Amino acid sequence: MARTSRVVVQTAPRALEMRELPLPEIDDDSGLLRVEACGICGSDAEQYAGVLPARWPTVLGHEPLGIVEKIGDRAAKRWGVDVGDRVAVETLIPCGYCRACVAGRYQVCRGRGGMFGYSYVPVDHPPGLWGAYADYLYLDPHAIVHRVDAALPASIAVMFNPLGAGFRWAVEIPRTGPGDVVLVLGPGQRGLASVVAARAAGADAVIVTGLARDARKLALARELGADHVIDVDNEPDVKRRVKELTGGRGADVVVEVSSNSTEPVADALHYVATGGRIVLAGVKGFKAVPGFVSDLVVVKEATILGAFGVTSRSYRSAIRLIEKGDVPLAKLHTHDFALEEAEDAIRTLAGEGPGEASIHSCIVPR
Ligand SMILES: [Zn+2]
Ligand SMILES: [Zn+2]
Repeated sequence: MARTSRVVVQTAPRALEMRELPLPEIDDDSGLLRVEACGICGSDAEQYAGVLPARWPTVLGHEPLGIVEKIGDRAAKRWGVDVGDRVAVETLIPCGYCRACVAGRYQVCRGRGGMFGYSYVPVDHPPGLWGAYADYLYLDPHAIVHRVDAALPASIAVMFNPLGAGFRWAVEIPRTGPGDVVLVLGPGQRGLASVVAARAAGADAVIVTGLARDARKLALARELGADHVIDVDNEPDVKRRVKELTGGRGADVVVEVSSNSTEPVADALHYVATGGRIVLAGVKGFKAVPGFVSDLVVVKEATILGAFGVTSRSYRSAIRLIEKGDVPLAKLHTHDFALEEAEDAIRTLAGEGPGEASIHSCIVPR
């Protein structure tokens, strides 16, 4: 077995370097994961650009899938996994004791100092292997892992993260079910995952909005089960179109997963039905939202819900859906990148690269 792991470390905005770290000793409560793939997240691009509050230097990568290489006896018992098992690892590593954890909101735990999770813990915090743009990842005693069918291609199995977000944001938080019309604003990997999740939850209809340059993603939304798509650049009156498609009522659930633009947040108030739910999950660089008409929230008795992170329940729904294999998820996957190509990978996801735009992509260390 190797004695070191390559890791991609971010040292400053837009500065990555490859380093080599020693593999740690594993005690009774921890483990070591051999990384098979790590999903590339929209937030990786924001972290790379330096717009997220982050502590450097850190190893990037918080969507790990891999094989348990070493594991302590107590950890094996607690997690119900053993050496050789394939697992998906949750991003957040909760403390287990703070108010948020005790209240069952471990995804917003700050009990270990700031946000404690993969790709957010600095590399100088022992044992350093806190990110999955790497050959190996440290499994902290408080890490949360889920077993995944080892027969699946890694690039598909690793979709547990965006799909888990789809289940949490489009289903679990707004309690979506039969009878609901779901409108998804933004056809990126999270938006498409929301389509898949809303369909799986039995929503009556799913509508997706996107820009003219998103034509390929909007077509994919249809293949994944969206009933209608709206190209907002070419639709003269989007509000009227939403009304038309919802029998004049508006959408019961609006899921806002576009990045940076604040306009969809203000528009969501117009799209939502009376008594409907709006889930805000797309981050906007902490900008204020112009044109936010709060009276629409009042007169419609609408509920606005924030979504941050994913819960075990939604990760499990995602993994079950992937394992069932009846949704053509492979169509979402566009790129595999080697560790050495991490910078390319992030720039491609951000649409800065010269090549084909990415939808779902991952790092595959080899
Ligand atoms: Zn992520
Ligand atoms: Zn906690």
